[in-house]
Amino acid sequence: MEKLKVAIRYGADAVYLGGKSFGLRNLADNFDVPELAEAVEYAHRHGVKVYLTVNAFPDNAEIDALERYLGEIAEIPCDAYIAADPGVVALLRELYPQRDIHLSTQANTTNWRSAKFWQSQGVTRVNLAREMSLDDIRETSGRCEVELEAFVHGAMCISYSGRCLISSALTGRDANKGECTQPCRWNYAIVEESRPGEFFPIMEDDSGSFIFNSKDLCLIEHLPELVQSGVASLKIEGRMKGIYYAASVIRVYRAALDSYWQDPVGYRVRPEWLEELSKVSHRGYTTGFLLGKPRDLDHEYLSRYVRSYEFVAIVEGDAPGGGTLLAVRNRLLLGDTLELIGQGCSFSTFTLTAMRNEEGLPLQEAHPNQKVIVAGLGGAGRFDLVRREKAAQVAS
Ligand code: SF4
Repeated sequence: MEKLKVAIRYGADAVYLGGKSFGLRNLADNFDVPELAEAVEYAHRHGVKVYLTVNAFPDNAEIDALERYLGEIAEIPCDAYIAADPGVVALLRELYPQRDIHLSTQANTTNWRSAKFWQSQGVTRVNLAREMSLDDIRETSGRCEVELEAFVHGAMCISYSGRCLISSALTGRDANKGECTQPCRWNYAIVEESRPGEFFPIMEDDSGSFIFNSKDLCLIEHLPELVQSGVASLKIEGRMKGIYYAASVIRVYRAALDSYWQDPVGYRVRPEWLEELSKVSHRGYTTGFLLGKPRDLDHEYLSRYVRSYEFVAIVEGDAPGGGTLLAVRNRLLLGDTLELIGQGCSFSTFTLTAMRNEEGLPLQEAHPNQKVIVAGLGGAGRFDLVRREKAAQVAS
């Protein structure tokens, strides 16, 4: 719920979220039915649409449970369901003919004939496969009436948009049921079949060999082409990410898109947008398939997450006796140099010279889950975030 509120605060026009079943991303903190109702009410109150994911691929034994689950969420006034499996699409059409259906990227729509097919099945929006080029998107848009949606930022799969069995094969956790353990990011070796237990390292370099590991998608520099291609919606991946990631990425794309619509001809990519995106955890950035087939440079050979800043606190609001109340998420120390971010793309820097707990006692340091009051953050509002620079980090 907090992430949903942050997404809305930082400029999302719509959010997609999952219930407890059949929505993929089962590891994310999904919503139970009362929470779904609350989430939709909150989003609608802020003029934001809500799309509810039902995009798992159920097997026969799960169909009855799926129908029961759809019955449980029937009264939730979401703006569309997101589905991937043709059977689920048909079931949704049958049960809720008045509701929009968006086709998940998981259905791997890679050409205009597929998009037209889904249009004929009553789907109102197709979230295209990440494997489509800009030319393919343009042509698809020109040949179909169905709305198109494209991912612009986030993790890439090495398989077709998550239709992948590596996790299922290696760990028993099925990506198509929302349980991917991301083995495409792991380090692999060769074993000769008559020498079990002897691992021959494949050394691309000193780090090993990360043969399935893609960089993350980032299309901030190509928003005008995407908008002009006829795409109706730009999607940011983030259900498994933290609130700092969601806020940082959304606010950059919000600023870029607003800037484009204010002056399409004079639009320029601003350096601060790129700088801001470099401050969230990522594996290096790629344009993926947008400008043609990915090459070696689009692969991340180090399994390296780059993270130059860490999220340390979220603003809860004004403290009753003066100052700003922060909910601490990472250790805070007096003397820290911190940055405060909010809506828009700016940030302000400040030094933490004093803080006290809610009882008014002065503190030298604060720990996760503690609430502290700090002075000097005049103008900071609910859901503004505090971050701290850290040394470049390399982690597997
Ligand atoms: S293992 Fe990697 S490629 Fe496969 S579904 Fe998971 S993230 Fe995608």
